[in-house]
This record gives sequence, C-alpha cells and structure tokens, in this order.
Amino acid sequence: MTCLIAYHDGDETDERQRGWQTRLAAYLPGCQLVPLVDKAADDAEIALVWAPPAGRLAELSQLKLAVSLGQGVDHVMVPGKLPDNIPLIRIVDPDMSHALSQWVILAALDHLRDGPVYREQARKRVFAPHNQRQTRGLRLAVYGMGAIGSMIATRLADIGFQVHGWSRSERPQTSALTMHHGRKGFDNLLSNCQLHVCILPLTDETRHIFDTDAFAAMPRGAYFINGGRGAQVDESALLQAISSGHIAGATLDVFEHEPLPDNHPFWDEPRITIWPHVAAQTNPETAAQQVADAIIAVRAGQDPVNLVDRQRGY
Ligand code: NDP
Repeated sequence: MTCLIAYHDGDETDERQRGWQTRLAAYLPGCQLVPLVDKAADDAEIALVWAPPAGRLAELSQLKLAVSLGQGVDHVMVPGKLPDNIPLIRIVDPDMSHALSQWVILAALDHLRDGPVYREQARKRVFAPHNQRQTRGLRLAVYGMGAIGSMIATRLADIGFQVHGWSRSERPQTSALTMHHGRKGFDNLLSNCQLHVCILPLTDETRHIFDTDAFAAMPRGAYFINGGRGAQVDESALLQAISSGHIAGATLDVFEHEPLPDNHPFWDEPRITIWPHVAAQTNPETAAQQVADAIIAVRAGQDPVNLVDRQRGY
C-alpha cells in the first residue's frame, strides 16, 4: 500500500523518523515517511507531527489526516497550524499512562520521604534521621482524569493516598476515588489537598489555571507536581508561593518555554525538581499499530479512533 506520510518532530537527527518508518511499515507495507519540511512531502496524505511549522500543513493539498506524535495536541492546536477540515487524532498509549503514573509516584514519594534532604545530607556525609512524615490517608488531588490521570489516580489510591480527581464533566464516583468537576470542585480540591498533581491538557480554559490565587488557596506546606503542560502554571506565582514558604516545593516535567531557559529562576530554587519533559515518551513500538489503524480507517472513508474534539481543544 503506497502511502506518503509527512513527518516532523523537531529532532535534528532522523533517528526517530527511522523508528516510525520501520514500525509503521509492519502494518502499512509500502508506506513512506518524508520530512514535512521537504518538497517531497507536498503530496503527503498523512501528517505525523509534533509542533509543525506554522502554515506548512496547509500546503499539503492531499492531506487527509493529522496525527499528533503524543497524547497532548496543544502543539498543533495553534491558530494557522492545522486547516479546519483536517481531522486530528492523538496517540493514546497505556504504556505512556503507566510511565507517567510511575513518574508521579516517584515525585510524590521523593518529596514525602524527604529524598532531596537526604541526598543533600549524603553529599555532605551527614548520617542523620528526621521524623518520618505520616502519609497514610493523605489527601491528594489529580487534576485531569482522562487516559493518563485515571491510571495515576488508581495507582496512587493503591499505595494508600486518599485520592480526589478533577475533570471537566461529571464522572462517576468509585470506591477508591472521589470525583469532582467544575470550578466549585477545583476550589474544593485546592483548599483540601496536601498534594496536587496536574495532568490536564492545555486549552484556553486550563492556561494559567494554577495562578497566585490557586497556590494561595492550597494549605500551607502543600506540594505541587506538574506532568501536564507548563503553560497551565503561572510560573512566577509558583516561584513566589515557594519562596514565601507557603508551598513546600514542586516537581515539574513541563515548562511554559522548553527547553527551560538558562537564566530561568527555577534552576536556582532547590525546592523545585526539574525534569526535561520526559515523564512519558512516545514510543513507536507501542503506538504504531493504532496510528496505522487510523490511517487505514481514514483511507477507507471511516472515522479514526482517538479523534480530537477541535472545539473542546483536547
Ligand atoms: P485526556 O484527554 O484523556 O484527559 C484529559 C482530562 O482532563 C479529562 O479528564 C478532562 O475532563 C480533563 N479536563 C480537560 N479540560 C478540563 C477543564 N477545563 N476542567 C477540568 N478538567 C478538564 O488526556 P490524557 O490523559 O491522555 O493526557 C493529558 C495531558 O497529559 C496531555 O494533554 C498532555 O498535555 C499531558 N502529557 C504529558 C506527558 C509528559 O511526558 N509530561 C506525556 C503525555 C501527555 P473530561 O473527563 O470531563 O473530558
């Protein structure tokens, strides 16, 4: 099956493109990946992209489907990036939810078991125990209860936290999770939880949702973990909340501007743990089949799975 696929992930090397080429060809023999920016991509039917250059997708006259090279789609949902008539799908990979769950558990327990304190002590050869924090039944909020957030919440409940989830629409309560939605639910979680985990998609509604008021509403000593998108946080408000001692610290995988600039004040705040957007990485080995299925569906005139609601923004 001949199928021309325009590829873009911003990587200077073509190693990841080769990985996708190999994996996709197993399900779509004869498919060919070409760099989106090359003239050869002008006739592509499919775009497999992360943060494509503005205007380029509109030049592909045969384009039938855009595929986000990740679970988030904010990198494509920018005015002028994707023509309105082109369907957009995203990858939904349980392996990514699993990886992100592990990352959140790591961040939460590292804070609660004083990892940064003991690593600093070890660096100075100090062997001194501190009182262990009581964590049983600690209230923890997961903002975003979709493919990833719901797995994170379940795993956190399994290890003894009292987990509260937040979503846009009302979701059923379960025996392990208490569910909240809407602005009232958000305010309730801010003031009643000690740990706050953000795994929301970036939309107009979630941009800077964690602002000065949100951090002020959290109890003194609360901890913040962000695996969603950097622009959901007003970074100077977070820094101020930590500097004042109101918020104990934060573990962040995502930032408003990536890579995090050299002169960003987060680098100098020891209570902030910085990760370079690696909480869960897209893996062609586990994601290629669903991309191939979507391509086959679209070429057969059917709706692909994991279609993004362009109106809603995720
Ligand atoms: P989903 O679309 O499956 O879930 C999104 C969740 O957020 C849903 O529960 C949705 O509510 C909720 N939500 C959206 N908007 C609002 C709002 N305004 N108010 C309240 N809740 C809202 O997304 P995924 O779980 O697959 O992924 C979430 C995000 O994680 C991605 O968009 C991406 O930004 C980030 N991500 C980060 C990675 C990393 O390495 N750091 C890797 C992969 C993803 P409802 O249920 O009502 O629809």
